[in-house]
Amino acid sequence: MTTERLLNLLARPETPSREVLAAALALEDFRPVYELADHIRREHKGNVVDIRAILEFSNHCRRRCRYCGLNAANRNLGRFRMPPEEMVETVHQAAQAGYRTIVLQSGEDPWYTPERLGEIIRRIRQNDDIAVTVSCGEMPEDDYAALKESGADRYLLKHETADPELYDRLHPCGTLKNRVECLKNLKKLGFETGSGFMIGLPGQTLATIADDLLLLKEIGCDMAGIGPFIPHPDTELRDVPEGSTELCKRAVALARILLPECNLPATTALGVVNNGEKNDVFSCGANVVMRKVTPTRYKALYEIYPAKLGETHIVAQRRELEEQIRALGREPL
Ligand code: SAM
Repeated sequence: MTTERLLNLLARPETPSREVLAAALALEDFRPVYELADHIRREHKGNVVDIRAILEFSNHCRRRCRYCGLNAANRNLGRFRMPPEEMVETVHQAAQAGYRTIVLQSGEDPWYTPERLGEIIRRIRQNDDIAVTVSCGEMPEDDYAALKESGADRYLLKHETADPELYDRLHPCGTLKNRVECLKNLKKLGFETGSGFMIGLPGQTLATIADDLLLLKEIGCDMAGIGPFIPHPDTELRDVPEGSTELCKRAVALARILLPECNLPATTALGVVNNGEKNDVFSCGANVVMRKVTPTRYKALYEIYPAKLGETHIVAQRRELEEQIRALGREPL
């Protein structure tokens, strides 16, 4: 298929097929697709880059995802839980610094029952005018409903891979079917729903990445995090090479074309692999960036994948990011 034919198929309102998406991912010269994605981003999201704060409040996890440093089998990791009071205070500092969204993320940690987490969300909403995104894994529908009731607006639960066999190999504790069911429940409950997936999982192909993109569309995602897999030395996937940043950016661009209104972060993982290239991510369709506000003493313990994390300075780091975004001719929000 010629590049021109592919572009025509991508630009049509109908959802492109798996074959078209896989062929687009493999293009020798992807520039025309980036240009299309950037155009759609400008039309639908304007020039604004949405800066969101993420607070990683517990690294306890009952699951054993084979790629993740937090997996329950990792005995080398010191575990922590942030006391609710400290969580509420940290979110307050983020709100004071200008953040309008806080992402509360943790491993699947049953200590934070829907009641406890709900109470924390209620207090955050009483204190500050800040949207709350929860990212705490799979829960029964009633628990999601309780979190919604307490004031959570959004939920982030990546489907990780849309290939059921690959999903089974990587997740001894869950199924793709249940993960997708959770996403559909969240959508039904009225959450702004975020999914996403990793690039570079062992056994993944361009066709399965096309399936990942089509699943985002099927769910009707309001948000999608697409980032490279990065090997963690204390996991079974320690020797698998990290995912390609170029392929990630291509997937982000195609997600923008499939879901013009979707909020697409330049994912943290992408920033870690190749900080210098992060600007390119904005020009290929991304419109969101996340910054950690996790207090320094917990930050190093939230090691999903190895990363050089410095100290947290909530105000200074937000200002720095705002300046970087303005320097790119974009408007920080
Ligand atoms: N427990 C919640 C959940 O399951 O959605 C949120 C925490 S989980 C650690 C957040 C995300 O980290 C996952 O959705 C996964 O995509 C990502 N992640 C875990 N290990 C990773 C790795 N080695 N490389 C890149 N991303 C990873």
